[in-house]
Amino acid sequence: MSVYDKYQAVIGLEIHAQLSTKSKAYASDSATFGDLPNTNISPVTLGHPGTLPVLNEKNIEFAVKLGLAVGATIRENNEFARKNYFYADLPKGYQITQDKTPICTGGFITLFPNTAKEKKIEITRIHMEEDAGKSIHDQDPFNTLVDLNRAGVPLVEIVSEPQISSAEEAYEYVTQVRKLLRYLEICDGNMEEGSLRCDANVSVMLKGASKFGERTETKNMNSIRNVKRAIEHEIIRQIDVLENGGKIEMETRSFNAVDGTTFTMRSKEEAHDYRYFPEPDLQPVIVSQNYINDVKTTLPTLPNELYKVYTKEFGLSEYDANLIIESKPLGIYYNELTQYTKNYKAASNWLNGSIKSYLNENGITIENFVIKPAKIAALIQLIDDGKVSNTVASQHIFPIMVKQPELEPLAIAEQNNLIQESNDDDLSSYIEQVIENNPKEIERFRNGEQQLIGFLMGQLMKTSKGKADPKKANSLLREKLKQ
Ligand code: ADP
Ligand code: MG
Repeated sequence: MSVYDKYQAVIGLEIHAQLSTKSKAYASDSATFGDLPNTNISPVTLGHPGTLPVLNEKNIEFAVKLGLAVGATIRENNEFARKNYFYADLPKGYQITQDKTPICTGGFITLFPNTAKEKKIEITRIHMEEDAGKSIHDQDPFNTLVDLNRAGVPLVEIVSEPQISSAEEAYEYVTQVRKLLRYLEICDGNMEEGSLRCDANVSVMLKGASKFGERTETKNMNSIRNVKRAIEHEIIRQIDVLENGGKIEMETRSFNAVDGTTFTMRSKEEAHDYRYFPEPDLQPVIVSQNYINDVKTTLPTLPNELYKVYTKEFGLSEYDANLIIESKPLGIYYNELTQYTKNYKAASNWLNGSIKSYLNENGITIENFVIKPAKIAALIQLIDDGKVSNTVASQHIFPIMVKQPELEPLAIAEQNNLIQESNDDDLSSYIEQVIENNPKEIERFRNGEQQLIGFLMGQLMKTSKGKADPKKANSLLREKLKQ
Protein backbone atom coordinates (compact mmCIF):
# COMPACT_ATOMS: atom_id res chain seq x y z
CA MET A 1 0.00 0.00 0.00
CA SER A 2 1.41 3.37 -0.98
CA VAL A 3 1.16 6.33 1.37
CA TYR A 4 -1.32 7.90 -1.02
CA ASP A 5 -3.80 5.13 -0.28
CA LYS A 6 -3.95 6.19 3.36
CA TYR A 7 -5.69 9.42 2.41
CA GLN A 8 -8.98 10.40 0.95
CA ALA A 9 -9.62 13.56 -1.00
CA VAL A 10 -12.46 15.98 -0.25
CA ILE A 11 -13.44 18.31 -3.06
CA GLY A 12 -16.00 21.09 -3.41
CA LEU A 13 -16.36 23.03 -6.66
CA GLU A 14 -17.42 26.61 -7.30
CA ILE A 15 -18.55 27.10 -10.88
CA HIS A 16 -19.10 30.51 -12.40
CA ALA A 17 -21.36 30.40 -15.45
CA GLN A 18 -21.82 33.43 -17.67
CA LEU A 19 -25.48 33.72 -18.56
CA SER A 20 -26.18 34.06 -22.26
CA THR A 21 -28.28 37.19 -22.00
CA LYS A 22 -28.16 39.87 -24.68
CA SER A 23 -27.46 42.69 -22.26
CA LYS A 24 -25.62 42.94 -18.97
CA ALA A 25 -26.88 42.11 -15.50
CA TYR A 26 -27.71 45.63 -14.39
CA ALA A 27 -27.14 47.75 -17.49
CA SER A 28 -28.28 47.77 -21.10
CA ASP A 29 -24.85 47.41 -22.76
CA SER A 30 -24.32 44.34 -24.89
CA ALA A 31 -23.01 41.23 -23.15
CA THR A 32 -21.62 39.75 -26.38
CA PHE A 33 -18.29 37.97 -26.14
CA GLY A 34 -15.45 38.82 -28.50
CA ASP A 35 -16.34 42.38 -29.53
CA LEU A 36 -13.54 44.92 -29.84
CA PRO A 37 -12.19 45.76 -26.37
CA ASN A 38 -14.03 48.44 -24.41
CA THR A 39 -16.82 48.91 -26.91
CA ASN A 40 -19.64 47.60 -24.71
CA ILE A 41 -19.44 49.85 -21.70
CA SER A 42 -21.89 52.40 -20.40
CA PRO A 43 -21.68 54.86 -17.50
CA VAL A 44 -23.72 52.38 -15.42
CA THR A 45 -21.10 49.68 -15.96
CA LEU A 46 -18.40 52.15 -15.05
CA GLY A 47 -20.30 53.11 -11.89
CA HIS A 48 -20.28 56.82 -12.64
CA PRO A 49 -21.92 58.96 -9.98
CA GLY A 50 -25.62 59.41 -10.55
CA THR A 51 -26.08 56.21 -12.55
CA LEU A 52 -28.42 53.52 -11.31
CA PRO A 53 -28.40 49.80 -12.03
CA VAL A 54 -31.55 48.13 -13.36
CA LEU A 55 -31.89 44.37 -13.01
CA ASN A 56 -32.06 42.37 -16.24
CA GLU A 57 -35.08 40.13 -15.77
CA LYS A 58 -33.45 37.33 -17.76
CA ASN A 59 -31.01 36.83 -14.87
CA ILE A 60 -33.87 35.78 -12.66
CA GLU A 61 -35.44 33.59 -15.33
CA PHE A 62 -32.18 31.79 -16.08
CA ALA A 63 -31.27 31.31 -12.42
CA VAL A 64 -34.75 29.94 -11.69
CA LYS A 65 -34.45 27.58 -14.68
CA LEU A 66 -31.19 26.23 -13.35
CA GLY A 67 -32.58 25.95 -9.84
CA LEU A 68 -35.58 23.97 -11.05
CA ALA A 69 -33.38 21.71 -13.15
CA VAL A 70 -31.26 20.71 -10.14
CA GLY A 71 -34.23 20.46 -7.77
CA ALA A 72 -33.24 23.46 -5.66
CA THR A 73 -35.48 25.53 -3.44
CA ILE A 74 -36.09 28.91 -5.07
CA ARG A 75 -36.00 31.90 -2.77
CA GLU A 76 -38.96 34.23 -2.79
CA ASN A 77 -37.31 37.33 -1.41
CA ASN A 78 -34.06 38.04 -3.24
CA GLU A 79 -31.80 40.82 -2.10
CA PHE A 80 -28.62 42.15 -3.60
CA ALA A 81 -25.41 43.06 -1.84
CA ARG A 82 -22.23 44.91 -2.64
CA LYS A 83 -18.98 43.01 -2.43
CA ASN A 84 -16.31 45.68 -2.18
CA TYR A 85 -12.78 45.39 -3.41
CA PHE A 86 -10.35 47.44 -5.42
CA TYR A 87 -8.99 46.12 -8.66
CA ALA A 88 -8.19 47.64 -12.05
CA ASP A 89 -10.79 45.56 -13.85
CA LEU A 90 -13.57 46.54 -11.44
CA PRO A 91 -14.37 50.16 -12.27
CA LYS A 92 -17.17 50.50 -9.70
CA GLY A 93 -15.02 49.23 -6.83
CA TYR A 94 -17.65 46.62 -5.98
CA GLN A 95 -19.55 43.74 -7.50
CA ILE A 96 -23.28 43.39 -7.12
CA THR A 97 -23.94 39.91 -5.81
CA GLN A 98 -26.29 38.05 -3.49
CA ASP A 99 -24.61 37.56 -0.19
CA LYS A 100 -27.05 36.15 2.35
CA THR A 101 -29.92 35.45 -0.01
CA PRO A 102 -28.85 33.14 -2.85
CA ILE A 103 -31.74 32.61 -5.28
CA CYS A 104 -31.36 28.81 -5.10
CA THR A 105 -30.41 26.55 -2.25
CA GLY A 106 -30.16 22.76 -2.23
CA GLY A 107 -30.71 20.39 -5.11
CA PHE A 108 -28.08 18.14 -6.61
CA ILE A 109 -26.17 17.05 -9.67
CA THR A 110 -26.17 13.33 -10.44
CA LEU A 111 -22.85 11.86 -11.49
CA PHE A 112 -23.44 9.09 -13.95
CA PRO A 113 -23.07 6.96 -15.84
CA ASN A 114 -19.31 7.24 -16.21
CA THR A 115 -18.79 6.67 -12.51
CA ALA A 116 -19.17 3.15 -11.25
CA LYS A 117 -22.43 3.89 -9.53
CA GLU A 118 -24.81 6.79 -9.51
CA LYS A 119 -23.76 9.43 -7.02
CA LYS A 120 -25.50 12.64 -6.10
CA ILE A 121 -23.51 15.76 -5.30
CA GLU A 122 -25.53 18.27 -3.33
CA ILE A 123 -25.60 21.91 -4.32
CA THR A 124 -25.03 24.32 -1.48
CA ARG A 125 -26.24 27.41 -3.26
CA ILE A 126 -26.63 29.13 -6.60
CA HIS A 127 -26.52 32.90 -6.56
CA MET A 128 -26.55 35.67 -9.14
CA GLU A 129 -23.73 38.14 -9.53
CA GLU A 130 -21.93 40.21 -12.12
CA ASP A 131 -18.58 39.61 -13.76
CA ALA A 132 -15.60 41.94 -13.51
CA GLY A 133 -13.66 43.19 -16.53
CA LYS A 134 -10.74 41.32 -17.94
CA SER A 135 -7.11 42.10 -17.18
CA ILE A 136 -4.83 41.12 -20.05
CA HIS A 137 -1.23 40.53 -19.01
CA ASP A 138 0.29 39.01 -22.12
CA GLN A 139 -0.22 41.58 -24.87
CA ASP A 140 1.98 44.43 -23.71
CA PRO A 141 5.40 43.74 -22.22
CA PHE A 142 5.19 46.60 -19.71
CA ASN A 143 1.53 47.15 -18.94
CA THR A 144 -1.57 45.24 -18.01
CA LEU A 145 -4.39 46.02 -20.41
CA VAL A 146 -7.99 46.09 -19.26
CA ASP A 147 -11.05 45.18 -21.32
CA LEU A 148 -14.23 46.23 -19.58
CA ASN A 149 -16.65 44.59 -22.03
CA ARG A 150 -17.05 41.76 -19.54
CA ALA A 151 -17.69 44.07 -16.57
CA GLY A 152 -21.30 43.62 -15.52
CA VAL A 153 -21.98 40.49 -17.58
CA PRO A 154 -24.36 38.31 -15.54
CA LEU A 155 -23.11 35.18 -13.81
CA VAL A 156 -24.50 32.50 -11.64
CA GLU A 157 -22.19 30.90 -9.14
CA ILE A 158 -22.92 27.26 -8.41
CA VAL A 159 -21.35 26.07 -5.16
CA SER A 160 -21.21 22.35 -4.39
CA GLU A 161 -21.03 20.64 -1.03
CA PRO A 162 -17.62 19.05 -0.34
CA GLN A 163 -18.90 15.65 -1.49
CA ILE A 164 -16.72 15.03 -4.52
CA SER A 165 -14.09 12.41 -3.73
CA SER A 166 -11.78 12.21 -6.72
CA ALA A 167 -10.48 14.09 -9.73
CA GLU A 168 -12.56 11.79 -11.95
CA GLU A 169 -15.73 12.63 -10.07
CA ALA A 170 -14.91 16.33 -10.37
CA TYR A 171 -14.48 15.86 -14.13
CA GLU A 172 -17.86 14.18 -14.29
CA TYR A 173 -19.49 16.85 -12.12
CA VAL A 174 -18.31 19.73 -14.31
CA THR A 175 -19.30 17.76 -17.42
CA GLN A 176 -22.81 17.28 -16.08
CA VAL A 177 -23.16 20.91 -15.00
CA ARG A 178 -22.00 22.11 -18.40
CA LYS A 179 -24.35 19.76 -20.20
CA LEU A 180 -27.24 21.00 -18.08
CA LEU A 181 -26.41 24.66 -18.73
CA ARG A 182 -26.31 23.94 -22.45
CA TYR A 183 -29.58 22.01 -22.45
CA LEU A 184 -31.20 24.90 -20.61
CA GLU A 185 -29.58 27.28 -23.10
CA ILE A 186 -28.58 29.67 -20.35
CA CYS A 187 -24.78 29.49 -20.79
CA ASP A 188 -22.66 28.37 -23.73
CA GLY A 189 -20.34 26.46 -21.39
CA ASN A 190 -17.20 27.49 -23.22
CA MET A 191 -14.32 27.15 -20.76
CA GLU A 192 -11.66 28.35 -23.21
CA GLU A 193 -13.47 31.65 -23.62
CA GLY A 194 -14.10 31.82 -19.90
CA SER A 195 -17.89 31.68 -20.00
CA LEU A 196 -17.62 28.72 -17.64
CA ARG A 197 -15.01 28.85 -14.87
CA CYS A 198 -14.35 26.39 -12.12
CA ASP A 199 -12.52 26.89 -8.82
CA ALA A 200 -11.53 23.67 -7.09
CA ASN A 201 -11.47 23.47 -3.30
CA VAL A 202 -9.36 20.49 -2.34
CA SER A 203 -8.34 18.96 0.97
CA VAL A 204 -7.15 15.56 2.06
CA MET A 205 -7.63 13.61 5.28
CA LEU A 206 -6.80 10.16 6.54
CA LYS A 207 -9.35 7.61 5.35
CA GLY A 208 -12.20 7.35 7.80
CA ALA A 209 -11.33 10.63 9.56
CA SER A 210 -14.30 12.62 10.75
CA LYS A 211 -12.82 16.07 10.34
CA PHE A 212 -11.90 17.57 6.99
CA GLY A 213 -8.37 18.74 6.39
CA GLU A 214 -7.46 22.35 5.57
CA ARG A 215 -8.32 23.18 1.96
CA THR A 216 -6.78 25.13 -0.86
CA GLU A 217 -8.68 26.72 -3.71
CA THR A 218 -7.23 26.38 -7.22
CA LYS A 219 -8.21 28.67 -10.09
CA ASN A 220 -7.44 29.23 -13.76
CA MET A 221 -8.25 25.92 -15.37
CA ASN A 222 -9.48 26.53 -18.91
CA SER A 223 -10.90 23.08 -19.66
CA ILE A 224 -12.62 20.28 -17.80
CA ARG A 225 -9.57 18.13 -18.36
CA ASN A 226 -7.44 20.75 -16.66
CA VAL A 227 -9.81 20.83 -13.68
CA LYS A 228 -9.07 17.12 -13.33
CA ARG A 229 -5.33 17.60 -13.76
CA ALA A 230 -5.21 20.42 -11.22
CA ILE A 231 -7.07 18.34 -8.63
CA GLU A 232 -4.89 15.27 -9.28
CA HIS A 233 -1.81 17.38 -8.70
CA GLU A 234 -3.21 19.12 -5.65
CA ILE A 235 -4.17 15.86 -3.93
CA ILE A 236 -0.67 14.42 -4.38
CA ARG A 237 0.99 17.69 -3.35
CA GLN A 238 -1.04 17.95 -0.15
CA ILE A 239 -0.35 14.34 0.82
CA ASP A 240 3.38 14.90 0.19
CA VAL A 241 3.33 17.98 2.43
CA LEU A 242 1.56 16.11 5.22
CA GLU A 243 3.74 13.01 4.91
CA ASN A 244 6.82 15.22 5.21
CA GLY A 245 5.52 16.65 8.47
CA GLY A 246 4.23 19.88 6.94
CA LYS A 247 0.89 21.64 7.24
CA ILE A 248 -1.60 22.69 4.57
CA GLU A 249 -2.31 26.40 4.70
CA MET A 250 -5.55 27.79 3.45
CA GLU A 251 -4.64 29.61 0.27
CA THR A 252 -5.62 30.38 -3.28
CA ARG A 253 -3.53 28.61 -5.90
CA SER A 254 -3.27 28.88 -9.65
CA PHE A 255 -2.99 26.07 -12.20
CA ASN A 256 -0.11 25.92 -14.64
CA ALA A 257 -1.38 24.06 -17.69
CA VAL A 258 2.12 23.62 -19.13
CA ASP A 259 3.37 21.24 -16.44
CA GLY A 260 0.11 20.40 -14.67
CA THR A 261 1.18 21.88 -11.33
CA THR A 262 -0.41 24.44 -9.00
CA PHE A 263 1.34 27.36 -7.30
CA THR A 264 0.46 29.85 -4.58
CA MET A 265 -1.43 32.96 -5.74
CA ARG A 266 -2.34 34.44 -2.41
CA SER A 267 -2.36 33.21 1.17
CA LYS A 268 -5.06 33.64 3.76
CA GLU A 269 -3.36 36.71 5.23
CA GLU A 270 -3.90 38.47 1.95
CA ALA A 271 -7.58 37.49 1.88
CA HIS A 272 -9.97 40.35 1.26
CA ASP A 273 -12.45 41.71 3.70
CA TYR A 274 -15.21 42.37 1.22
CA ARG A 275 -17.31 44.55 3.56
CA TYR A 276 -20.60 43.23 2.18
CA PHE A 277 -23.59 45.49 2.62
CA PRO A 278 -27.06 45.61 1.06
CA GLU A 279 -27.05 47.15 -2.42
CA PRO A 280 -28.95 50.41 -1.90
CA ASP A 281 -29.74 50.98 -5.58
CA LEU A 282 -31.64 47.77 -6.28
CA GLN A 283 -34.94 46.75 -4.79
CA PRO A 284 -35.38 43.21 -3.56
CA VAL A 285 -36.88 40.94 -6.22
CA ILE A 286 -39.87 38.82 -5.27
CA VAL A 287 -39.96 35.52 -7.14
CA SER A 288 -43.55 34.32 -6.86
CA GLN A 289 -44.75 30.75 -7.09
CA ASN A 290 -46.69 31.71 -10.23
CA TYR A 291 -43.53 32.98 -11.84
CA ILE A 292 -41.71 29.78 -10.93
CA ASN A 293 -44.54 27.72 -12.42
CA ASP A 294 -44.35 29.72 -15.64
CA VAL A 295 -40.61 29.12 -15.92
CA LYS A 296 -41.18 25.44 -15.21
CA THR A 297 -43.30 25.11 -18.35
CA THR A 298 -40.34 26.30 -20.43
CA LEU A 299 -37.92 23.64 -19.17
CA PRO A 300 -36.73 21.23 -21.88
CA THR A 301 -36.41 17.51 -21.27
CA LEU A 302 -33.19 17.24 -19.32
CA PRO A 303 -30.29 14.98 -20.28
CA ASN A 304 -30.71 12.71 -17.24
CA GLU A 305 -34.35 12.11 -18.08
CA LEU A 306 -33.46 11.39 -21.71
CA TYR A 307 -30.79 8.99 -20.54
CA LYS A 308 -33.31 7.06 -18.49
CA VAL A 309 -35.78 6.85 -21.38
CA TYR A 310 -33.10 5.73 -23.82
CA THR A 311 -31.62 3.03 -21.60
CA LYS A 312 -34.76 1.82 -19.85
CA GLU A 313 -37.48 2.20 -22.48
CA PHE A 314 -35.58 2.20 -25.76
CA GLY A 315 -33.14 -0.51 -24.74
CA LEU A 316 -30.04 1.40 -25.81
CA SER A 317 -26.71 0.63 -24.18
CA GLU A 318 -25.43 3.13 -21.62
CA TYR A 319 -22.64 3.97 -24.03
CA ASP A 320 -24.97 4.74 -26.94
CA ALA A 321 -27.40 6.69 -24.78
CA ASN A 322 -24.54 8.76 -23.44
CA LEU A 323 -23.30 9.59 -26.93
CA ILE A 324 -26.72 10.88 -27.90
CA ILE A 325 -27.35 13.06 -24.85
CA GLU A 326 -23.85 14.52 -25.10
CA SER A 327 -25.27 17.50 -26.92
CA LYS A 328 -28.79 18.82 -27.07
CA PRO A 329 -29.00 19.12 -30.88
CA LEU A 330 -28.04 15.44 -31.24
CA GLY A 331 -30.76 14.53 -28.76
CA ILE A 332 -33.27 16.62 -30.69
CA TYR A 333 -32.37 14.86 -33.94
CA TYR A 334 -32.64 11.46 -32.29
CA ASN A 335 -35.99 12.31 -30.73
CA GLU A 336 -37.35 13.32 -34.09
CA LEU A 337 -35.92 10.21 -35.69
CA THR A 338 -37.66 7.99 -33.15
CA GLN A 339 -40.96 9.60 -34.04
CA TYR A 340 -40.66 7.99 -37.47
CA THR A 341 -39.15 4.62 -36.53
CA LYS A 342 -39.62 2.31 -33.60
CA ASN A 343 -36.30 0.63 -34.32
CA TYR A 344 -34.58 2.72 -31.64
CA LYS A 345 -31.41 0.70 -31.71
CA ALA A 346 -30.97 1.12 -35.47
CA ALA A 347 -31.76 4.83 -35.13
CA SER A 348 -29.03 5.17 -32.52
CA ASN A 349 -26.58 3.17 -34.63
CA TRP A 350 -27.19 5.40 -37.63
CA LEU A 351 -26.83 8.57 -35.61
CA ASN A 352 -23.73 7.47 -33.70
CA GLY A 353 -22.28 5.72 -36.74
CA SER A 354 -22.63 6.87 -40.34
CA ILE A 355 -24.19 10.24 -39.54
CA LYS A 356 -21.61 11.29 -36.96
CA SER A 357 -18.72 10.11 -39.12
CA TYR A 358 -20.08 12.12 -42.01
CA LEU A 359 -20.49 15.21 -39.81
CA ASN A 360 -17.00 14.85 -38.36
CA GLU A 361 -15.34 14.30 -41.70
CA ASN A 362 -17.00 17.35 -43.16
CA GLY A 363 -16.86 19.61 -40.13
CA ILE A 364 -20.63 20.00 -40.02
CA THR A 365 -22.85 20.15 -36.94
CA ILE A 366 -26.02 18.12 -36.67
CA GLU A 367 -28.09 21.32 -36.88
CA ASN A 368 -26.80 21.73 -40.43
CA PHE A 369 -27.18 18.10 -41.45
CA VAL A 370 -29.16 17.99 -44.71
CA ILE A 371 -30.97 14.66 -44.36
CA LYS A 372 -34.24 14.94 -42.48
CA PRO A 373 -34.90 12.38 -39.72
CA ALA A 374 -37.91 11.04 -41.65
CA LYS A 375 -35.63 10.05 -44.53
CA ILE A 376 -33.21 8.22 -42.23
CA ALA A 377 -36.20 6.43 -40.73
CA ALA A 378 -37.28 5.41 -44.27
CA LEU A 379 -33.80 4.04 -44.86
CA ILE A 380 -34.01 2.00 -41.66
CA GLN A 381 -37.38 0.70 -42.82
CA LEU A 382 -35.83 -0.45 -46.13
CA ILE A 383 -33.30 -2.48 -44.18
CA ASP A 384 -35.91 -3.87 -41.81
CA ASP A 385 -38.06 -4.90 -44.78
CA GLY A 386 -35.12 -6.83 -46.17
CA LYS A 387 -35.00 -4.62 -49.27
CA VAL A 388 -31.40 -3.57 -48.78
CA SER A 389 -28.60 -4.70 -46.50
CA ASN A 390 -27.03 -2.49 -43.85
CA THR A 391 -23.86 -2.36 -45.88
CA VAL A 392 -25.59 -1.28 -49.08
CA ALA A 393 -27.56 1.30 -47.09
CA SER A 394 -24.52 2.88 -45.49
CA GLN A 395 -22.06 2.52 -48.37
CA HIS A 396 -24.27 3.22 -51.37
CA ILE A 397 -27.57 4.82 -50.43
CA PHE A 398 -26.50 7.14 -47.57
CA PRO A 399 -23.78 8.86 -49.65
CA ILE A 400 -26.36 9.61 -52.36
CA MET A 401 -28.88 10.90 -49.81
CA VAL A 402 -26.29 13.32 -48.48
CA LYS A 403 -25.88 14.79 -51.97
CA GLN A 404 -29.56 14.70 -52.88
CA PRO A 405 -31.41 14.88 -49.57
CA GLU A 406 -34.76 15.35 -51.30
CA LEU A 407 -34.70 11.81 -52.76
CA GLU A 408 -36.46 8.90 -51.08
CA PRO A 409 -34.14 6.03 -50.07
CA LEU A 410 -36.36 3.51 -51.86
CA ALA A 411 -36.17 5.48 -55.11
CA ILE A 412 -32.40 5.66 -54.79
CA ALA A 413 -32.20 1.91 -54.21
CA GLU A 414 -34.39 1.17 -57.21
CA GLN A 415 -32.68 3.60 -59.57
CA ASN A 416 -29.29 2.22 -58.68
CA ASN A 417 -30.32 -1.40 -58.86
CA LEU A 418 -29.57 -1.94 -55.16
CA ILE A 419 -32.69 -3.74 -54.06
CA GLN A 420 -31.74 -6.91 -52.29
CA GLU A 421 -32.66 -10.13 -53.99
CA SER A 422 -34.69 -12.35 -51.77
CA ASN A 423 -36.72 -14.35 -54.24
CA ASP A 424 -35.78 -18.00 -54.23
CA ASP A 425 -34.96 -18.28 -57.94
CA ASP A 426 -32.34 -15.54 -57.85
CA LEU A 427 -30.83 -16.81 -54.63
CA SER A 428 -30.75 -20.40 -55.93
CA SER A 429 -28.82 -19.35 -58.98
CA TYR A 430 -26.19 -17.65 -56.77
CA ILE A 431 -26.02 -20.75 -54.59
CA GLU A 432 -25.50 -22.95 -57.63
CA GLN A 433 -22.62 -20.76 -58.71
CA VAL A 434 -21.01 -20.88 -55.27
CA ILE A 435 -21.28 -24.66 -55.14
CA GLU A 436 -19.83 -24.96 -58.60
CA ASN A 437 -16.92 -22.64 -57.95
CA ASN A 438 -15.88 -24.00 -54.54
CA PRO A 439 -15.97 -27.78 -54.71
CA LYS A 440 -13.18 -28.31 -52.13
CA GLU A 441 -14.78 -26.11 -49.51
CA ILE A 442 -18.18 -27.70 -50.10
CA GLU A 443 -16.62 -31.11 -49.59
CA ARG A 444 -14.96 -30.02 -46.35
CA PHE A 445 -18.16 -28.39 -45.10
CA ARG A 446 -20.09 -31.58 -45.73
CA ASN A 447 -17.39 -33.45 -43.83
CA GLY A 448 -18.10 -31.39 -40.74
CA GLU A 449 -16.17 -28.10 -41.02
CA GLN A 450 -19.22 -26.05 -40.14
CA GLN A 451 -17.28 -22.79 -39.82
CA LEU A 452 -16.80 -22.75 -43.62
CA ILE A 453 -20.33 -21.42 -43.92
CA GLY A 454 -18.86 -17.97 -43.30
CA PHE A 455 -16.53 -18.31 -46.27
CA LEU A 456 -19.28 -19.68 -48.49
CA MET A 457 -21.64 -16.85 -47.52
CA GLY A 458 -18.87 -14.41 -48.35
CA GLN A 459 -18.57 -15.95 -51.80
CA LEU A 460 -22.30 -15.79 -52.21
CA MET A 461 -22.49 -12.10 -51.30
CA LYS A 462 -19.64 -11.43 -53.70
CA THR A 463 -21.35 -13.31 -56.51
CA SER A 464 -24.55 -11.37 -55.92
CA LYS A 465 -22.60 -8.09 -55.71
CA GLY A 466 -23.95 -7.58 -52.20
CA LYS A 467 -27.56 -7.77 -53.26
CA ALA A 468 -28.50 -11.17 -51.86
CA ASP A 469 -30.63 -11.02 -48.72
CA PRO A 470 -28.07 -12.59 -46.38
CA LYS A 471 -30.53 -14.09 -43.92
CA LYS A 472 -32.56 -15.83 -46.53
CA ALA A 473 -29.53 -16.81 -48.59
CA ASN A 474 -27.91 -18.30 -45.52
CA SER A 475 -30.82 -20.58 -44.74
CA LEU A 476 -31.24 -21.59 -48.38
CA LEU A 477 -27.54 -22.36 -48.66
CA ARG A 478 -27.57 -24.51 -45.52
CA GLU A 479 -30.60 -26.37 -46.80
CA LYS A 480 -28.95 -26.98 -50.14
CA LEU A 481 -25.74 -28.25 -48.52
CA LYS A 482 -27.67 -30.76 -46.42
CA GLN A 483 -28.95 -32.43 -49.56
P1 ADP B 1 -15.54 30.56 0.36
O1 ADP B 1 -16.61 31.52 0.01
O2 ADP B 1 -14.57 31.06 1.34
O3 ADP B 1 -14.86 29.99 -0.83
P2 ADP B 1 -17.48 28.45 0.93
O4 ADP B 1 -18.00 28.03 2.27
O5 ADP B 1 -18.42 29.11 0.02
O6 ADP B 1 -16.21 29.33 1.17
O7 ADP B 1 -16.90 27.13 0.28
C1 ADP B 1 -16.40 27.09 -0.98
C2 ADP B 1 -16.26 25.66 -1.43
O8 ADP B 1 -15.33 24.94 -0.65
C3 ADP B 1 -17.53 24.84 -1.40
O9 ADP B 1 -17.69 24.23 -2.65
C4 ADP B 1 -17.27 23.79 -0.34
O10 ADP B 1 -17.91 22.59 -0.65
C5 ADP B 1 -15.79 23.63 -0.38
N1 ADP B 1 -15.17 23.18 0.86
C6 ADP B 1 -15.41 23.62 2.11
N2 ADP B 1 -14.62 22.97 2.98
C7 ADP B 1 -13.83 22.12 2.28
C8 ADP B 1 -12.80 21.21 2.60
N3 ADP B 1 -12.35 21.04 3.84
N4 ADP B 1 -12.24 20.51 1.60
C9 ADP B 1 -12.62 20.68 0.33
N5 ADP B 1 -13.59 21.51 -0.04
C10 ADP B 1 -14.20 22.24 0.92
MG1 MG C 1 -14.27 30.11 -2.52
